[in-house]
Order: sequence, then structure tokens, then C-alpha cells
Amino acid sequence: MSVEIEIHDEKMLVNGEWIDADERADVVHPYDGEVVGSVPIASEQQVQQAVAAADRAAEASELSAYERYELLYRTAELLEKEVEEMAQLMTAEQGKPITEARGEVDRAIQTLRLSGEEAKRMFGEYVPMDAQRGFDRTHAFTQREPLGVVAAVTPFNFPLNLMVHKIGPALAAGNAVVGKPATNTPLVSIRLFEYLDQAAEEVGAPDGLVNVVTGSGSTVGDVFLESEEVEAISFTGSTAVGKYIANNSGMKEVTLELGGNDPTIVWEDADVKEAAVQLIGGACSNAGQVCNSVERVLVHKTVEDELVAALVGQAQTLTPGDPFDEETDIAALIDDDAAEKVQRIFEETVAAGATVECGGDYEGRKFEPTVLSGVTPEMPAAAEEVFGPLVPVITVADFDEAIEQANNTEYGLEAGIFTQDIDRAKRAANEIDAGGVNVNTVSGFRTDHMPYGGFKDSGKGKEGIKYAVEHFTREKIVGFHAGKNA
Ligand code: NDP
Repeated sequence: MSVEIEIHDEKMLVNGEWIDADERADVVHPYDGEVVGSVPIASEQQVQQAVAAADRAAEASELSAYERYELLYRTAELLEKEVEEMAQLMTAEQGKPITEARGEVDRAIQTLRLSGEEAKRMFGEYVPMDAQRGFDRTHAFTQREPLGVVAAVTPFNFPLNLMVHKIGPALAAGNAVVGKPATNTPLVSIRLFEYLDQAAEEVGAPDGLVNVVTGSGSTVGDVFLESEEVEAISFTGSTAVGKYIANNSGMKEVTLELGGNDPTIVWEDADVKEAAVQLIGGACSNAGQVCNSVERVLVHKTVEDELVAALVGQAQTLTPGDPFDEETDIAALIDDDAAEKVQRIFEETVAAGATVECGGDYEGRKFEPTVLSGVTPEMPAAAEEVFGPLVPVITVADFDEAIEQANNTEYGLEAGIFTQDIDRAKRAANEIDAGGVNVNTVSGFRTDHMPYGGFKDSGKGKEGIKYAVEHFTREKIVGFHAGKNA
């Protein structure tokens, strides 16, 4: 590793104590495999202890909305003092370029603040009971209440901000939390829980309001699923695990942010050069390991050549290299399995007849930004979620075909369309079966407070603070019936 970082041998936070386990897992720097730290592999019993502690804390907590806001704002403040340290730790464990890591820390600070503000907005509504004949003297309002214990399971690709997206709204709503970060990227999450722990103590929260456990996803996940105290599971990760959770969660509230195979349409009237800049950014940031990454480019046949040339020109501006180098745009994939998957998809797609317009070289986990033309829908680069820096270009003859191909996937996370024609844009918005349609930008667009979540195999439920708070609360109606003498 080109930057010296102290080895982070971390513990888990359970009931206000930092605890170890009998076994530990190493965390490695994806770019060169150097060990950067380790975390405990929690036993089933330790996960149960974390859940029980969270349950007691949820019962005991009397934090007001203002105190919950303070908890989250204070955590943001602590994080803000350590931006560079957190960014370096993230690059060390996840391998994303340092400039992207700083961006993620900044987003996480904002997501914490947005969550703090949402704590003050848990409104109910007045219900006009007299709308039904005979209830003239009855009044009612609704109030939102926390569920109790929220379990948060996150993947490797945005190890800080995705954890904040779950525990921020959960705490804002008055719940207790148990976090479980991905085993290959747990270090920044644990650091986040250190700040949360400090902030929780400062506002007078009971021990156990915030807990974090590490180790095997299936061991931890099964305890969450089997526990009666866990009222909600918020999961971001693969569709296979998401479906397992959905099928085994009984009456729990479940939010699933899963995979995608997102299309972006480039129409004949688009600003093709601008589209190419955004498409390459959307396909290659974090080496393509982004859930709403540009996975398929659908281009009208009249601008195909112009777009492919612009994509190649833009891809060639990206600097591959060491993620700690300020100039680096693309570094390494998370692990060998991920690299093998991208290589297989690339080779099978080329063998099936696609043309390599640029890139295509790889060495271990390092894969060049690669533009492929002449891709057809059944080729693996179009049919599968790649999670790597491949840009498959599929040519379409008319708008019906563009919409049909956009929907030709089991996923439905987000989509993009570049066009100057408002009617076409509106038609795409209406007919593309995805949780978000972005006009004149790519599928990968997201702000942290917008409703975000896919259709079909991309998941269920929404994140985006306010929307997550709805999932982490239940609604109660309180009715007032006038007495005889009133
Ligand atoms: P995984 O599903 O393998 O892992 C995600 C998390 O789930 C990890 O913390 C993992 O733990 C845990 N886990 C594994 N098995 C279980 C289980 N049986 N029960 C409960 N939790 C479990 O996904 P990846 O890390 O490989 O992430 C990549 C996937 O995530 C891609 O498909 C991507 O599209 C999707 N994703 C979706 C996003 C969205 O917002 N829609 C955002 C980011 C990614 P451990 O690490 O210990 O195995």
C-alpha cells in the first residue's frame, strides 16, 4: 500500500462495551492484498446479545426528537473532524480512488444531518372523522412510533454511506440499531459506531442503543431473522441474499436494496458528447461496482458511431492506478471472485461477437475501462449484472425497441435517458419499469434524500431518510369520542 495506515484490529460494540470474539477475519487492501486490519467473527450468541441489548435500550430510551437530532448532528460533527482519516481507511479496505472516498465521507456527513433533521419531522395527521355520517363529535389524529430494534446489513461498495442510510433514519425515528457491515469492508463502519457511541453517551442514551457486530453474513443474518426482538431488517446487497431474507422474515418489516442491470438510452437528439462523459463516469466510478451503475447503453442507430467514438475518447481520459494516487480514476475490483466474474463476462461477450472498442486488458483485480459495441441483449455483458467497468453498447432502431430493451431484465433499479424531446422523456418515465428514471443524466444519479429503491428483483421499499423513517415506524390512530355531557 502506498500510504502508511496503522493496522486497524477492531472490536464489536455490544451493549456499550467493545468486545472481541474467538475467531477473527483479516481485512485486505484490494489493490495489492496487503492486510490493513481485522475484525471479530461474531458467534451466534454474541449477535443474540447485541439484539437483546438493543431491545432493552429501545424500551428504556426516552430520547426526545431534539435529543435524537443532537445525537445524529453530533455524530456528523465527529465524522467531519476526521474526513481525511476516514477516506484513507475506506480506500485501504475498499480500494476506491481516494477522491471518491472523500466524496463518500462527505455524503455520509450530509446523510447524518438529513437524518437528524428528519427526527424533528415525525408528523401525524388530523383525521376528519366527521366525514362519515354520525361521527360529528369524534376527532382523531395519527402518530408515528418507532418499531424497536432495526438490523442494518450493508455491502462492500459504499461501506460508510450505506450504513448511515440505515442507522440514521432508524435512530431518527427512535429505534435501537444493530449494524452488520460487509466482512471485506467493516473498518469505516466500526469507526462510525465509535462516533455514534460517543454521541449517544453525550445525549444520555441508554447502553445498547447502537451496536455493531461483524463476521459471517449468514450467521448474523439468521440470528436477525430468527429473533423476535428484531422488528425490521434493512438490507443492501445481492438479490440472492435479499430473496432469502424476504422468504424467511415472517412478519418483520423488510427493506431490500438489491442488484441492478440499469439501462441508459441515448436518443438521436441528445447531446452525445455530454452523454458520453456522464456514461463513462456512471459506468466506471468505483470500478463499476455501483448498484445503479450504467450497465447497458441503448443508443439510436443514427448516433451509434458518434456515441461509440465519444465513449472511447472519454474512457481513455481515465487514469488507472493506485487508489491512493490523487490522479487515479479507476483502481481495482474488490476481490478475486469479482475479477473472475468480470473477466468471464467480458470474454464470453467478445466470443459471442461484440467488438472491443477500447480497453479489455486486465491483470488480476485490475480491469481497464472497456467499451464494447455490437452487443446484443442475450450476450452476458447485457444480460447479467457485471459490477465492473464494462460499457456495453446496444443499438436500437426505434423508441419501442429502446423501451422494450430497457425493460428486458429481471431488475428495475434505475434508468436514464438523454433526449431533448419532452414527450419521449415522459414516455420513458411512464414505461420503464424501474424505481427511478433520470432525464438527461444516467441511471447512476442519486441524492441522499430522494426516494431510492428498485422494482422487480432490485428490491422493495425505499431509502432516502424520510422514506426510510416510514419503514422504521408504525402508524397509530388515536380517536377522541365526545362524552355525553360535552
Ligand atoms: P452480498 O449479498 O454478498 O453481501 C451484502 C451483505 O450481506 C454483507 O454484509 C454480507 O455479509 C451479508 N450477507 C451475506 N449472506 C447473508 C445472509 N444469508 N443473511 C444476511 N446477510 C448476509 O452482496 P455483495 O457484498 O457482494 O454486494 C454486491 C451486491 O449488492 C450487488 O448485487 C449490488 O448490486 C448490490 N447493491 C445494491 C445497492 C442498492 O442500493 N440497490 C447498493 C450497493 C450494492 P458478508 O460480507 O459477511 O458475507
